[in-house]
Amino acid sequence: GERLPRPEQTRVMVVANQKGGVGKTTTTVNLAASLALHGARVLVVDLDPQGNASTALGIDHHSDVPSIYDVLVESKPLSEVVQPVPDVEGLFCAPATIDLAGAEIELVSLVARESRLERAISAYEQPLDYILIDCPPSLGLLTVNALVAGAEVLIPIQCEYYALEGLGQLLRNVDLVRGHLNPDLHVSTILLTMYDGRTRLASQVADEVRSHFGNEVLRTSIPRSVRISEAPSYGQTVLTYDPGSSGSLSYLEAAREIALRGAGVYYDGQNAHAMG
Ligand code: ADP
Ligand code: MG
Repeated sequence: GERLPRPEQTRVMVVANQKGGVGKTTTTVNLAASLALHGARVLVVDLDPQGNASTALGIDHHSDVPSIYDVLVESKPLSEVVQPVPDVEGLFCAPATIDLAGAEIELVSLVARESRLERAISAYEQPLDYILIDCPPSLGLLTVNALVAGAEVLIPIQCEYYALEGLGQLLRNVDLVRGHLNPDLHVSTILLTMYDGRTRLASQVADEVRSHFGNEVLRTSIPRSVRISEAPSYGQTVLTYDPGSSGSLSYLEAAREIALRGAGVYYDGQNAHAMG
């Protein structure tokens, strides 16, 4: 892939939306693979007990595998659970096992329960350009740990009825965490997913999201694509499963936009503009 500007510091991006099925996991793994193909070193942290991101990356995550549960609850160093993703150079994964389902409760009685992931990431010494955290579909302590660990929130929005419903709750949580625990936290990126340009509904939702969020919305949207939905059952991202597909190209383009924005360059679909 094309080489893109690398961030000066690791960008930690929290992929969150408390609705299920909006494309959080799909976006996390495909964006991560795209950034890696553009030459970045990228870590995916799977923070959903379902472990869908681990599966999609072809990472073993049966219950004996050292996982992000051990990091959060047992204070195991992140370096002891990170695995390289097969077939994609520069891409790594901290897998989730089903144990993580209990962590939401177990964390409650632990010290610094909101900042355990942040501590683990701070202590991780391998050089990384991006860390993408795949959140579960809830706003509990796992998601709070992600919001404390990251500076940027990436919200995938599915172009469907009620797309914006419930987002207020997520945005209020972002405000709360910013106010109390993580002053750097902000919503940096909105990505429209499962976009079907042929339907009026999709373009109406897209317009609504753009008028609501403005500059945070990426120019690139992700089309609905069968290849994207097939890839995880082969333990692959769409980038290796079908590199030339529209889904693959759209994630590469979204990654490009994110990398350029990080370097202060905004993209209007045709031209790049430097922004202050
Ligand atoms: P979440 O993590 O928010 O619950 P997922 O990423 O698991 O959502 O996506 C939900 C479902 O939609 C999955 O079956 C996934 O394969 C499918 N999906 C996601 N994005 C697309 C897309 N662009 N085109 C087609 N199917 C998609
Ligand atoms: Mg998911």
